[in-house]
Amino acid sequence: MILFISDLHLDSSRPAITQAFYRFLEERAPRAQALYILGDLFELWVGDDDDAPLVLEVQSRLRQLADTGTALFFIHGNRDFLIGRQFAAATGAQLLPDPSLIDIDGQQVLLMHGDTLCTRDRDYLAFRQQVRQPEWIAGVLAKSLEERRALGRQLRAQSQSMNSRKAEDIMDVTEKEVRAVMQAHAVKTLIHGHTHRPARHQVELDCGAGERIVLGDWDREAWCLRYDGDWELYSWRIPA
Ligand code: MN
Repeated sequence: MILFISDLHLDSSRPAITQAFYRFLEERAPRAQALYILGDLFELWVGDDDDAPLVLEVQSRLRQLADTGTALFFIHGNRDFLIGRQFAAATGAQLLPDPSLIDIDGQQVLLMHGDTLCTRDRDYLAFRQQVRQPEWIAGVLAKSLEERRALGRQLRAQSQSMNSRKAEDIMDVTEKEVRAVMQAHAVKTLIHGHTHRPARHQVELDCGAGERIVLGDWDREAWCLRYDGDWELYSWRIPA
C-alpha cells in the first residue's frame, strides 16, 4: 500500500490539524510501504535550522515512521520550498524534484505539487521564479531566524491579499498545461495537490484517457490518496 498526502499547512495556530497528522502517522502510515508528501506540509518553512517546537516534533514523528520501515518521500510546496538536506537527514525523507516520475506496479505516475500547473496565475509564477533562484535562497538563508520569520509572515500576508483579489479560476490548473505535462512525460496518471480542490478528473490524452488525481488540503477534513492495487481518494473528519 502506498499513501499520498499534501497541503496540511501545519502551523502552531492549528493544533487540531497537527494532532490529526500525528494520529495519521501512528495509525495509518505505518501500514504503508511508502508515504509521499506532495508539498505544503508546513504553512511556512523558514529554514532547516528552525527550532520551533512544532517543527522539531513533526520531524521526530516523521523519523519514527521512517524507522519503522515506511519509505518517506517529499516534494516541495510553495510554502515549504526552503526545506533542505538537514530536514531530509532529520526525518529520513528523500527529497524529490518537482515533477517526479515514479513506477507503481509497472505504471508510470507523475507527481507534482501543482502550483506550476496554474499557468493563468502569471503574477505568482513570476514570484515563484524569483524565489527559487539559488542566489535568492542563499540570501534569505543568510539572514537570522528572526528576520526570516518576519519575512515569511510578510510574504504570506502579501500572497493572501493578492489571492483574495484573484478570480477563482485563475488559481486552478490550466487543462492545456495538464495535458502538455502528462504527454511530455508519457503518463496516464498525474497526482498533485496545491489547489485544495480534491477530485479525480479524466484527462483526454492523445494516447487515450488519463487521470489527474488532486489531493485535498487538511482543514475540517483530512485527505489521503491510497494505492493498493487501485486508487482511492478518501477523507475523514478532523475533530475541532
Ligand atoms: Mn501550495
